This record gives sequence, C-alpha cells and structure tokens, in this order.
Amino acid sequence: MPTLAPEKKTARPANRGHRPAPELCFGDLWEYDPSPETADPKLKPRYELFIGGKFVAPASGKYFDSINPANEQKIAELALGGAADVDAAYAAAQHAFETVWGKMPGKERGKYLFRIARLLQDRAREFAVAETMDNGKPIRETRDFDVPMAAAHFFYHGGWADKLDYVAPGRRLAPLGVVGQVIPWNFPLLMLAWKIAPALAAGNCVVIKPATNTPITAVKLAEIFQDAGLPPGVVNVITGSGSTGGLMMAHPTAAKIAFTGSTEVGKVIMRSVADTDKKMTMELGGKAANIVFDDAPLDQAVEGIVNGIFFNQGQVCCAGSRLLVHESVARTIVAKLKNRLRVLRVGDPLDKNTDLGAIVSRAQLDSIQAYLDIGVKEGAEMWQPPFRRPAKGFFMPPTIFTGVTQSHRIAREEIFGPVLSILTFRTVDEAIEKANNTAYGLSAGVWTDKGSRILKMSTELKAGVVWANTFNKFDPTSPFGGYKESGFGREGGRQGLLDYAKLV
Ligand code: NAP
Ligand code: MG
Repeated sequence: MPTLAPEKKTARPANRGHRPAPELCFGDLWEYDPSPETADPKLKPRYELFIGGKFVAPASGKYFDSINPANEQKIAELALGGAADVDAAYAAAQHAFETVWGKMPGKERGKYLFRIARLLQDRAREFAVAETMDNGKPIRETRDFDVPMAAAHFFYHGGWADKLDYVAPGRRLAPLGVVGQVIPWNFPLLMLAWKIAPALAAGNCVVIKPATNTPITAVKLAEIFQDAGLPPGVVNVITGSGSTGGLMMAHPTAAKIAFTGSTEVGKVIMRSVADTDKKMTMELGGKAANIVFDDAPLDQAVEGIVNGIFFNQGQVCCAGSRLLVHESVARTIVAKLKNRLRVLRVGDPLDKNTDLGAIVSRAQLDSIQAYLDIGVKEGAEMWQPPFRRPAKGFFMPPTIFTGVTQSHRIAREEIFGPVLSILTFRTVDEAIEKANNTAYGLSAGVWTDKGSRILKMSTELKAGVVWANTFNKFDPTSPFGGYKESGFGREGGRQGLLDYAKLV
C-alpha cells in the first residue's frame, strides 16, 4: 500500500497509535489498536441527490433505505433518482464542462483533486466507520485500505492534471466531455475514487451512481466536493436503482461511460449503447487462479491465499477464488489453511479485531449459500471452521472446497463470497491450462521461488494483473482491468488516464 506524504498544516484527528498495515495480513492482531472504533460517522437521516453543486430532492419525491448488513438496521434514506434527475445531472455536467472545467488549466484542476484528497484524509475515520456500517466490511480494511487508497487515487491523478500536454510526443490529451459512471457495492468509496479522479484530472465532468446497497460514502464524498469548492456540476451524484443506472449509461449526453459491476449487467449496458459512438470501459467479474508451486514459501503462500479470497469477505472481483496447488504440497497447504481459518474472526465489522465482517446483503448471502449447496451436490467436499451465526446480520464463515474439478460450477462461476475452490496440478503447463480455462481474465497469482517461472507464468496467464508471491496488492500507478468476460479498458496508471481522454 502506498504511504502518503503527511500533510503538515491540516488539523487531523488524533491518531491513536494506528500504524498502516504494510500488507493486508489477516490475524496479525497485535499490530492493531484493540480499542473499539468510536469515531462518529456523522450520518444524516436523509440524503438528497447532488446535482449542480447542490443537494436536491428527487423529482419523484421517493427515497430508499440503506441498511447496515451487520445488524439489519436502517442507516439512512437516500433519494431515488429517476429520468428527470438524470437529465438534470447531465445538463449540469455539460454546462460545467463547457463553461468552467473543460477550459480550466490542468494545473488548476489538479489543485482541486489535491484538496479533495486532503479533505478525505482529514475525515478518514468518519468515512471508514460510515463505509463499514453501510457495507459490512471490517473497520480494519476501511481504515487501512479503502479510505487511504481512495485519497491516494485523488493525489495520484491530481499529479497528472498538469502533465497532459506531455503524455505523447507532439500531441496533447484533451477531455472527452461528460462521462457517466456506475459502480458496485464491494468497494464503494474506492470505486468512486477510481472513477472520478482520472475523469476530472483529464478535464471531464461526471455523473455517477453508487450501488443501492452502499450509497452513503458517495453522498458524503459530495459534501467533500462542496467543501473543496469544486465548481458546481463538475461531479453529480445520483443515488438510485439499477434502472436509474440504465438511464445513466444510455444517456445521449454521455461521451463516455464507465461501468464496474457484474458481467451480466455489463452486457446489458453494452447492448443498450451499441448504436452510439460512446467510448466505453467495462470492469466486470473474475474467477482468478491463485497458483502455488511446490517450491513456494508455503507459510507465506497460505497468508496470500487467505488474503486472496477472504479479504472483503471474498466480495472482490479479482479474488483468488480458485486455488491451484501443486499436488505434492496440496495436503500440507490444506492442513495449514484449515489451521489458519480456525483463528480468523468473523463478527462485528466495527470491532478492530474482526477479520471477516458481514456479507453486503441478504440477497448476496443467499446467493453464496446457494453456491455452497451446489458445490456439495456436485460432489466437492466442503469445510468450514466452527461458527455460530449471530441472530442478526448477514454472516458467512470462511469456506473451502476440496476435491473440486474444472467442470464444477464452484470452479467456473464467480461466487463473490468467502469461498475457495481448491484444485491440484502436476506440471507447469497443466497449471497454465487450468488457470486459463475460464471465461474471465482479471487477475491471477503465482507463488514460486523461481524468477524464470514467474516470468513464464505472467506471460502465459491471460489475466490483466498477475501477482507474484503476493495477492490483492493495489496501487494508483498500476493499471487494473481485464480480458475476455472481465471487461476492457484499464483503471489506474497512465493507461487508465488515457481511457478518459483523446489525443489531439
Ligand atoms: P451489478 O449488479 O452489476 O451492479 C453494479 C452497478 O450497476 C450497481 O450500481 C447497480 O445498481 C447497477 N445496475 C444494475 N442494473 C443495471 C442496469 N441494467 N444498467 C445500469 N446499471 C445497472 O454488480 P454488483 O452486484 O453491484 O457487484 C458485483 C459485481 O461487480 C461482481 O461481478 C464483481 O466481479 C464486479 N466488480 C468488478 C470489478 C472490476 O474492477 N472488474 C470491481 C468490483 C466489482 P443497483 O445497485 O442499484 O442494482
Ligand atoms: Mg448498506
């Protein structure tokens, strides 16, 4: 994880002994402050739409509830955006693009991005608690990963804003106009940053919709846009349903659309804009292979496997959900893994010692449970550590399946939960063939002592990101995105920026 240079002058909440985790390492509990998280998430009972720099009621007058999946209680109600609101947001964005943002020197635009990043850092605890309450992910993750990484994306792209004239020799990068963006619920704030920061850096204006399950940090980020003095209309936040998202993606004003979510919905969107010349990027699902060779440092690999599939309760598009392990070490790895899973804590996401929090919704919990039933029915062997389900909330223990074959649905379909399917291999070629035997191509992991093998694997694996002796490691400088049914286009790095601009 990148460390951000501390801002000297801004007042920051007291940092009660917290040290950023160098890598997400489950169970290193002694690294963490054991006191309960008490920061106030400063939630309002009701949030409106953010259009043209103001919070406004939806035309329909309708609202929906966001709940806390750890206790099933309502957190706040949010405006249900409809067609008239989407039109108003695009009109505000187009106006801001033509009159202010599209014309502003990159150096000036960059200052706003830096300011947003700093304001987010200042309110980091508040955002971490709000995100944990809305999504169910452990506070340790929101505090040490989601929020600092979101700020890092604004800092990184702020740095690009004044350099667009130098990206390609003799040519300049120009903005596209207004971009429509729709994001999922698994990393709500981080996805906002991944989408908004490069769009703004390149000079575009934005209309964005968070997922129904996790809209809170989107409207809270809108408060930061106001505090940062971002010109009205540069970013518009429309909360609403999937059909609101459909209206946004097909809107004639959108010069580009950027979608992160399921492959299924991605295809629906692509069909809906097939007759237009909109630029498009799609970040879709995944079924990553995490491949452990017999010469790998096994204890380190076990930590990487745990991080790969149980980070964010496995609700991660690039999760290492298929473990491919060399058959000579399979028995050892499975035994070590079971020992490790017995000490993972599943429970209150606001408790700093929690490793696995709540699943985002009852629907998602039911969908994961259905896959467990399918796995058992297909003949794989399921194992879970002892677990007592709390009376309230949507919890699922870490689960592994052994005896899995490539034809099993749990080895082919994205489960999006804390479920690991374990397969074995004998040769390097067999590992490559099995790893690539998927409709997806987002990420992969390789654990081995041999540099030459890492090079061979990263060349042969058809995945947008290949991690070597680590997993789920992210950085704003590094492009992220998929092949095949995992989508197209990149986010992060120079490549991600280029997807928000045209060379002129
Ligand atoms: P989803 O059901 O596809 O929803 C994603 C977003 O699309 C939500 O905001 C959703 O709104 C909206 N939506 C639903 N139907 C729509 C439609 N017809 N037109 C336009 N927008 C529509 O996915 P999810 O369940 O939230 O997220 C999980 C999926 O996202 C997984 O497949 C995961 O792999 C993928 N993902 C990919 C990446 C990546 O970078 N590749 C990153 C994270 C997640 P509502 O919430 O209101 O329904
Ligand atoms: Mg929620």
